[in-house]
Amino acid sequence: MTRQIRVGDVPIGGGAPVTIQSMCNTPTQDVEATVAQIKGLEHAGCEIIRVAVPDMAAAQAVGEIRSAISIPLVVDIHFDYKLALACVAQGCDAVRINPGNIGARDRVAAVAGACKERGIPIRIGVNGGSLEKPLLEKYGGVTAQALVDSAFGHIRLLEDCGFEDICVSLKSSSVPITMAAYKLMSEKCDYPLHIGVTETGTPKMGILKSAVGIGGLLALGIGDTIRVSLSADPVEEVYAARDILKAAGARREGPELISCPTCGRTRIDLIGLANEVEKRLTGVDKPITVAVMGCVVNGPGEASAADVGIAGGVGEGLLFQRGQIVKKVPREQLVEELFRLIDTL
Ligand code: SF4
Repeated sequence: MTRQIRVGDVPIGGGAPVTIQSMCNTPTQDVEATVAQIKGLEHAGCEIIRVAVPDMAAAQAVGEIRSAISIPLVVDIHFDYKLALACVAQGCDAVRINPGNIGARDRVAAVAGACKERGIPIRIGVNGGSLEKPLLEKYGGVTAQALVDSAFGHIRLLEDCGFEDICVSLKSSSVPITMAAYKLMSEKCDYPLHIGVTETGTPKMGILKSAVGIGGLLALGIGDTIRVSLSADPVEEVYAARDILKAAGARREGPELISCPTCGRTRIDLIGLANEVEKRLTGVDKPITVAVMGCVVNGPGEASAADVGIAGGVGEGLLFQRGQIVKKVPREQLVEELFRLIDTL
């Protein structure tokens, strides 16, 4: 098991529930837009949010953003240690920075010291796209071992400063390399792991790559916090992350939809019905299983493990609860009646 760190009041690692992270794509200095986006993400289920801090204007917005939101705020910094110090002073909850990129040892010590003083963890974020040249030469490109070596290089710099409040990520755009790197890392250290596949593309393939990479690692018991990276509205990342956690069996919160694959017995517009139910379920947070089945003959039986469900007939459907039929309902009222029943659970 990994050791536990805390980002604000959210525990990561050490058996804590796997948390969902995302990253804003608003300009950080635009406080109003950034806060609005974070609130939307929080509503969707995001538990830790990161903002890019490319300059001092962004760093100086961190305090105002933090005081307007209720989830922990991570600042993402490349190279400039002064930006890290400014963000720590502004009250950020964690810093993502690679100590090997910030130059002289006293700068690393200054950042580590400031974070230690305030109990702020540092995430080392190794990325296949920005791996150090000597490692690329040694391993002939981005490999799992190269990513792990890079992480240990950064970790050593912090440990030399007496700093161990660390989380690590090892992302690449290749699913097999990313998975192998995390697996290797989990065998070699007990720092909590922030897992994700990077630059996955647009949602169609991006969600699949993330589901295979993140979901596969979670199923192996690896990973303490996750971020799905998509070229899309970040709220899509959060929805995908929630689904991956559910599919990997890492979280049991919220409803789960099961629906039949349809076949020659299907007697209702099952696909439309399943989509309609899925959409409305985003507003439900009960840990229930809801079934949408295509026929009344096999549907209730096949979905008897579901808490509630509907099975479609011609122009009507059956509402059922744990395999037992509750009543027959006209098609137009099916979804309404289903959610009325869900309300009573
Ligand atoms: Fe076919 Fe009915 Fe099973 Fe759906 S529930 S796959 S319609 S038999």
